[in-house]
Parts: sequence; structure tokens; C-alpha cells
Amino acid sequence: MMASGSSGVVVRRGRCSVVRGAALRAVLERHGSVLFDCDGVLWNGEAAVPRAAEAVRALTSRGKQVFFVTNNCTRPRANYVTKFSRLGFSDVTEEQIFSSAYCSAQYLRDVAKVQEGKVFVIGCQAIRTELQEAGVSVVEEVEPGSQTGTIYDYPLDPDVRAVLVGYDEHFNFIKLAKACCYLQNPDCLFLATDPDPWHPLRGGRIAPGSGSLTAAVETASGRTATVVGKPGGFMFECIAAQFAGVEPARSLMVGDRLETDILFGHRCGLAATMLTLTGVSTLQEALQRRDQEDGGAGAGDRKEGLAPDYVVDSVADFIEAYREEEEEEEEEG
Ligand SMILES: [Mg+2]
Repeated sequence: MMASGSSGVVVRRGRCSVVRGAALRAVLERHGSVLFDCDGVLWNGEAAVPRAAEAVRALTSRGKQVFFVTNNCTRPRANYVTKFSRLGFSDVTEEQIFSSAYCSAQYLRDVAKVQEGKVFVIGCQAIRTELQEAGVSVVEEVEPGSQTGTIYDYPLDPDVRAVLVGYDEHFNFIKLAKACCYLQNPDCLFLATDPDPWHPLRGGRIAPGSGSLTAAVETASGRTATVVGKPGGFMFECIAAQFAGVEPARSLMVGDRLETDILFGHRCGLAATMLTLTGVSTLQEALQRRDQEDGGAGAGDRKEGLAPDYVVDSVADFIEAYREEEEEEEEEG
């Protein structure tokens, strides 16, 4: 795809340019807002990406608006602040954090306007907490593990207006059956927090993500969920609605997953996307996407918007880029 840059020069998108030093600094300087994914970008589990906190500080100290957009729905915003602080990211506030759980609550309240009814949730406690904070009523759930019998043994709540599916370690057959019963009503909204198929764990193990549970509900109900998280554009709408001056044309998305983060940046019309290699997607995968989007092999079913504009090894490269600037200034001074 082609886009007109701020200089009026037509620049090609999705070139996967590996940038560091002065070139990286120039990219960062062009953007007033920087959106970060979290898992695989700033940390992996409980281990911070080395110097990631310093990289974020380097941006905020230069007056950039920094936001965190994560498909991970397992923590309420307040809990994220604690995690940021525990991993050395000082001065991160709740207002900067846009998780799929928080944004799902915003969607249900402001877009779907389900205040009159209730939401049936397949998901973790964090989702319920965010919904309650937003004033959205949730159907009471019975204790995990106590769901026995058949679907006939469970009453259905007549006030349910929406089904929301997210990450749920206690997913079971009865929850799936209930969701499908609610979704037989065509007026019942079907939402998913995020489409993530799986998450990497230590030692080569993986955990199924919300997307795999949503797929089960979609198959059994014959319906398709509206996805709130990346690559859907709603998270950016949430940011733009809450922060004046945040514009797609001046925003940079930094993420580790092509199918969610990079596609999100592309779909939201952000000025640029940047892949960092500390998480899921590899440089090789990015280059493959670029070649496909160029119209090479498999062009017939190619998916546009998955090739990042820029690639860095780690967000820690930001520090090096700015350090060079400081050195240059010292030489000039
Ligand atoms: Mg990630």
C-alpha cells in the first residue's frame, strides 16, 4: 500500500526496514504518540525486557504521549499499574492502559449500551471487575468446578443482552452450552475480548488464548463474534476519545505480533507500525509477509497490513538511538 507522508512524499508501507541509531531516532521523532503492546514487547511474563522501562521513559521525557494497548484481559487496569511498577516502569498511570477487558467494558457501555440488561461472561475475574467498574451488569456465575449435569439443569437469565468471551481457565461444556442458548436470540450481542489463539509460556509450552474459546462458541452457535481487541480498531477509538490531540497520522504502533499489533496499526490508519523481535513474530515471518504483499507467491489470498514498516531488535534500541543524539549534541556544544 502507498501512503502520503507528512512531507508530501509518497512512501511505501510495510517495508520491514530494520532501523537503529539515527534512522530509528528520526522515526521516533516523527510521532507524537507511541502505542505499545505489553507482552513480548515490554515484558515476557514476569521478566521485563531489559531496559524497556528506560526506553519508555526516554519517550515520555521527550514529550511523547505513551499508551499501552494489550489484548491480555487477565488483569484489571489497577492491577496493571502494579505490574508496571513492579517491573520498574515508574509513572505509568491507569489512564494510559487500554486492555481488552477495559475496552470491552467501554464497548458494552458506550456502543452497545447494555445498561438495561446483563452480560453473560465466559472469562476471568478481571473482565467481570472491569464490567462492574463501567456499571455493566454481569450474570452471576456459579463456582468453577461445580457445573455438573446438563444444560437443562441451569436456568437462563432473561435479561442477557450480550455474551462476552475472553480468557477463561475454567472454560467448560456448560458455559459453552449457555452461551449458545443466549446467542440463539439474534438480538443478543456476541463479543470477544481478543482473537489471540495461544500464548507462549516458559519451556516451549503454550496456553490456549481467548480466540480458541471464541472459536468454540462461534462453531457451536453459528455466529461470528465482534472482536474488541487488536486487530480491531476499537482500542484506538477509546484512546482518541479520551486524549485530545491523539491522531492516527501522528501515531506509531510498537508490537511483537504481526496478526494483532501490526495489523491493528494498519487498520487504524496509524502513521507507522514497528515490530520488535522480543516476542512472538520473527523477522523472517515479517519479510515473508512483505514479499506476499508485494504480490509474490500466494498473492491470491494475501492479507494486507501484516508487514511492519520498521523492525527493531528490542525497544531498548530506542535508548541507544537517543544516546547518539546526546553525544552529537555534546560534540556540537
Ligand atoms: Mg504481544
